[in-house]
Amino acid sequence: MKKIVFAFILLCWTQVCLSQKITVKAHSVVGYGKHQDFAKKAFVALEQVLNSDEFKDSIIAMKAEKNQGYTSEQLYNIIMQAKEKKVPKDSAATDGIVDLWVRMLEVNGRDAKWKDNCENPSIFGNQTLGIDGAGDGFMAICPSALDYWASIDDVAALVGHYGHEYMHVLGFDHHRLFSSQRWREQTFVYKVGYLVRDLVKKMSAD
Ligand SMILES: [Zn+2]
Repeated sequence: MKKIVFAFILLCWTQVCLSQKITVKAHSVVGYGKHQDFAKKAFVALEQVLNSDEFKDSIIAMKAEKNQGYTSEQLYNIIMQAKEKKVPKDSAATDGIVDLWVRMLEVNGRDAKWKDNCENPSIFGNQTLGIDGAGDGFMAICPSALDYWASIDDVAALVGHYGHEYMHVLGFDHHRLFSSQRWREQTFVYKVGYLVRDLVKKMSAD
C-alpha cells in the first residue's frame, strides 16, 4: 500500500513538474487596499492559463495586427520566455518568470491625467489602462475598474487586464495613426488580453 501511495505521489509530482512551464511572480501590489486577495486570485489564474494547452493552441492559431512580424510559434515562445523589457527602477526581472509589479492609479494625485478616462464606464469592458500612460514598469489600473471587478468577483476581467498590460511589458503596442477601437482590438496586445480573460472564464465554468 505504502509503495502505491509513494508511486502515486511521485507520478503526480512529476506530472506537475512536466506540465508547469512558467511561474507568475507578483513582486509588489501597490495601492490595491482591500483588493489584495482578489489580485492574488488573478495571479494564480493567469499562471494556470499561461500553462494551459489551450493558451498555447490559441496563440498558435491567432491572427493579429502589430505582431512585429513574428510567427505565431515565435510569439508563443516570446511569452513563455518572459523577458520583460520594462521593469520598475531598481528592480530586477528573471527570464522564464512572469515578473509583475502592479499598482492602482492615483487619480487624485500623480495620475490625475487618467481621472476622466478612469471615470468613463466603458473601461469596465476594457483593459487598456496602464503602462502606455504610466510607463514606469508597473501595470497600473483604474480604481473604478478594480472596485467594479472585485464587487462582482470577476477575476477573469482582472486577468485580462494583466495579460494586456504584460504584452506591453514584453514590448508590444497597439499604436497606429488614426486607429479605431475596432482596429485596436485586432492587435496582438488586445487579443492576448481577451484570450486570457476568456480562458479564465472557461476554466472557472468547467
Ligand atoms: Zn494597451
